[in-house]
Amino acid sequence: MTSLPYHGLRLLAVHAHPDDESSKGAATSAKYASLGARVLIATMTGGEAGDILNPALLQSPKASRDIAGLRREEMATAAAALGAEHVWVGHVDSGLPDGDFDNQTPPGCFYRVPDEVAMLPLVHIIRTFRPQVVTTYDELGGYPHPDHIKNHAVTMAAVAAAADGTAHPELGEPWQVQKVYYNQDLSAKKWITIHEKMTEAGLESPFAEHLEDFKKRDSKRNNWLSTRIPCAEFFPARDRALLSHATQIDPEGGFFSASRKAARTYWPTEEFELALDRTDREPLRPGVDFQEGDLFAAVTFDDGRRVPDAGMLPDTPEAEKEAADPASDPDSPVAGPGQSGAEGSAALTESDTHA
Ligand SMILES: [Zn+2]
Repeated sequence: MTSLPYHGLRLLAVHAHPDDESSKGAATSAKYASLGARVLIATMTGGEAGDILNPALLQSPKASRDIAGLRREEMATAAAALGAEHVWVGHVDSGLPDGDFDNQTPPGCFYRVPDEVAMLPLVHIIRTFRPQVVTTYDELGGYPHPDHIKNHAVTMAAVAAAADGTAHPELGEPWQVQKVYYNQDLSAKKWITIHEKMTEAGLESPFAEHLEDFKKRDSKRNNWLSTRIPCAEFFPARDRALLSHATQIDPEGGFFSASRKAARTYWPTEEFELALDRTDREPLRPGVDFQEGDLFAAVTFDDGRRVPDAGMLPDTPEAEKEAADPASDPDSPVAGPGQSGAEGSAALTESDTHA
C-alpha cells in the first residue's frame, strides 16, 4: 500500500444526506481511494425524512418501518463501492419544505441547530482524521435544500474552528485543512454542454425540458469550475454506489440510465470549485475554469513532502480518452426523464423531492 502515490493523503467529503456522496464527487472519491489516499465520507444527517422513491421497495416492511435503519445499510454498501470510510455526523434530516425553511422545518432538525453547535462533531472528526483536503457545497447548497445550504455553513465553520488552538480543546489537537472545495459536478454548464453536444449529434436530449431551470440556477450564482478531475474509469463504481441507495433511486427510471450514459460520453470528469487555499503556491486566477486537475495539487504531506503544483494524477488513461470520444460509443442515450430522487440524475429541477 505504501507504494501507492497518494498514500499519506487524506480527503474528507462532507455531505448532507446518505446518497449525496454518490451523486457529487463520487468517482473522484473512488479514484483517490484507489491511488492510496484515505477518503472519509461524513454524512451530516441520517436521511430519515427521505421518501421511498423506488416503486420496487414501496412494499418492503423495512422501508416502511425503519427507513433510517435501511438508509444506514445502504450507506455502508455505497461507501464500500467507493473504497471510502464513512462516519455519521449525527444530525436530523430537515426534510424539504415548500417555502420558508426557517419556520417549516421541524424543530431540532439540522437546519435549525446553530452553526457553532452543529459544527462540534465535525470539528472532532477533522481533528481526528486530519484531512489535507475537504469538500462541501457552495453557499447556495448547490441544490436548494435546507440541509445542503446548512452543510456549507457548518463545514466552513468547522474547518475554521478545527484550526483554532483556542477553540474547543476538548475536541482534539488543532488541525489546519489546506484546501476546501465545493462540489460543482451538477453545474448548469455541464448539463447545458451535454445537451448541446447531444443535439449536435442528432440525439434526443433528456435534458431539453430542464434547460430553463439550469439557466435560472446558473444566473443566481456563477459557479467556478476551477478544478476538473478525469474519472470516467470510476463511473461504474459511482453508479454502483448510487444504486446502493435503493430506496432513493429507481434503477428502471429512464433518466438514470440516460443521464449517466450521456455524462460518460460527453463529460468524463467531475468538477470542484476552490473555496479555500492555504498552500503556499501561486493563487489560481479567480473565475477561470479548469485550472487544476488534482485536488491535492500543492498540498503538503505530514512528513513535509509536497505534491507538485500541477498535481500528480496519472495522465488520462486510454479508457477515459475513449469515453471522451462520442464516436466510440455506438449506443445513443435517448431515454426520456423518469422518476428518480437522487440528485445525480433527475433532481436537477427545483421541484424534485429529495431527502
Ligand atoms: Zn441531499
